[in-house]
Amino acid sequence: MGMDRKKALINIDYTNDFVAADGALTCGVPGQEIEEEIVRITKEFIDNQDYVVFAIDVHQAGDTLHPETKLFPPHNIEGTPGRKLYGALEEVFEANRADKNVYGMDKTRYSAFAGTDLELQLRARGITELHLVGVCTDICVLHTAVDAYNKGFELVIYQDAVASFDPEGHAWALRHFKGSLGASVR
Ligand code: ZN
Repeated sequence: MGMDRKKALINIDYTNDFVAADGALTCGVPGQEIEEEIVRITKEFIDNQDYVVFAIDVHQAGDTLHPETKLFPPHNIEGTPGRKLYGALEEVFEANRADKNVYGMDKTRYSAFAGTDLELQLRARGITELHLVGVCTDICVLHTAVDAYNKGFELVIYQDAVASFDPEGHAWALRHFKGSLGASVR
């Protein structure tokens, strides 16, 4: 008690569309290479009965009002295989999704906090430290980290469990997490 920090793992967008070779908006090989590590970390948090959030981008087919429509091809459309989690992480999610410490949530913007109840869920559990894994390092992981920082959460980023299609963006974001958001990058 007392000085203990309560922690949560936020899994971001590790879906077929963002990771698989034939995904609609894929990170490609860098995304596929983190599968083992993201699964290992996720299982560790689940086994430890820490709070584990799967914050997964969702879009509706033909949504002309969404700001991403003019930026990216359609991706993570609700109910499609592209929105399922990639590789072994899908099995981990399906096996544990009914667990009270596991929360599978939709998000519609880069940040897992934008327009969602994530902050309420974290505050209700007294969680002060967020551990981030997933893709893309320099888009959804970055925007989630910036929001978390502004809300006063401590951050831990796993450099072998985040990835991007853009190696420069990936490297820049890792520096930003550490140098500007005060994150522990491990
Ligand atoms: Zn999206």
